Amino acid sequence: NSNKADVLIIGAGQAGGEVASSLRQQGFEGSITLLGDEAYLPYRRPPLSKTFLSGEATLESLLIKTQAVYEKNRIDCQLGIGVETLDRAAHEVRLYDGTSIAYGKLVLATGGRPRRLSLPGADHPNVHYVRTIDDILRLKAQFTEGKRLAIIGGGYIGLEAAAVGIKKGLNVTVIEAMPRVLARVAAPEVSTFYERVHRARGVDVRTGVGVHALEGDALVDAVVLADGTRIATDVVIVGIGLIPNTELAESSGLEISNGIVVDLQTRTSDPDIYAVGDCTQHRNAFYDNSMRLESVPNAMEQARVAAAAILGKPAEYSAVPWFWSDQYDLKLQMVGLSQGYDQLAVRGDMNGESFAVFYLRDGVVISADAVNRPQEFMVAKKLVADRAKIDAAQLTDESVVLKTLLQPAA
Ligand code: FAD
Repeated sequence: NSNKADVLIIGAGQAGGEVASSLRQQGFEGSITLLGDEAYLPYRRPPLSKTFLSGEATLESLLIKTQAVYEKNRIDCQLGIGVETLDRAAHEVRLYDGTSIAYGKLVLATGGRPRRLSLPGADHPNVHYVRTIDDILRLKAQFTEGKRLAIIGGGYIGLEAAAVGIKKGLNVTVIEAMPRVLARVAAPEVSTFYERVHRARGVDVRTGVGVHALEGDALVDAVVLADGTRIATDVVIVGIGLIPNTELAESSGLEISNGIVVDLQTRTSDPDIYAVGDCTQHRNAFYDNSMRLESVPNAMEQARVAAAAILGKPAEYSAVPWFWSDQYDLKLQMVGLSQGYDQLAVRGDMNGESFAVFYLRDGVVISADAVNRPQEFMVAKKLVADRAKIDAAQLTDESVVLKTLLQPAA
């Protein structure tokens, strides 16, 4: 362990780990230190609410690379200790254990933390959040057959946890304050589909009603809804969104706006500091706009751009966002940003369990959601990236092979 790194990366998550690996792949020869406050090497979070919670995936299988690979690549991983302060003038960070590390270039890959429920009882030991391996180890111990599980929040994490709960024989209730599940991320038709699927498998889905109180002394034993309904429970999961970890950046005077503001090269307002992943409000050349995303493909692609930028190579971030979610035997894949669509083209039967939904604006495919259609999803990604203008009737006609709608490469 050295007290100076040519590149120092704060946050050993999906994005931070990829910056380190990518720097070596792209030929960086200097010293690299990867610092993380969790006790684990960089790992995949998506299985946390899916196969790791269900017990199908082991902890080891979550790790992106083994210790030996980091050693071989001369990446110094310092884990289980957080960075407390950043001194930009001195080019130095101080850790919670009092030691300091100087840097040439700094990468902030600090991710985010779950938004907490601000109600009395929210800190009881049977109230869970779903972000880290340690969160799931605690939750798993209470995730047993016959238990009553109340999930607050009908977003992806809540719905994935509900699916695992059903699989493990729990009695599951999902409580969503908005009028529909997935309200912030999917079209109403897709929300309706998921509400139907979850109800059909036994989940009690309650929408349009908030949580008024948590009851119970040492443990929460009931969730009281705003309409007075009392839902008796043994285990509570709260999945109500993420707060980006921007404090280090903010207290050192970097520009913040719902995330650490970075340009097309992932550079912050300080030329020696980059930021990547869930913690960033980043520019995207494809949209000529800025946004904050919470997804693995975004974390990975930004990490590669940051590594290139540190090496002085021309690279800019222009990826079309995509995401996936696994619930029961349904594989949902989404691409693009659907905001502002004026037409919806449904391919397949939304009353069944295999279809694709295309969002169009002025006839251009801007986004798509595919359920159990991985091959058509690959085509959908290209259509969105090409800004393809396509007649909705062609998209909905299943006798038209989707691939034939792709424009031949110029
Ligand atoms: P993180 O992976 O959160 O890593 C940041 C790390 O930095 C953390 O370990 C944090 O503890 C550490 N850190 C923060 N501050 C400090 C500090 N001061 N000092 C030291 N270390 C610090 N995405 C998909 O695309 N598909 C999915 O299906 C999907 N499912 C998901 C399911 C769950 C349950 C969760 C939680 C996320 C899911 N995501 C999914 C989102 C995806 O995991 C994130 O977008 C991705 O992990 C972001 O990577 P990151 O490196 O930016 O942040």
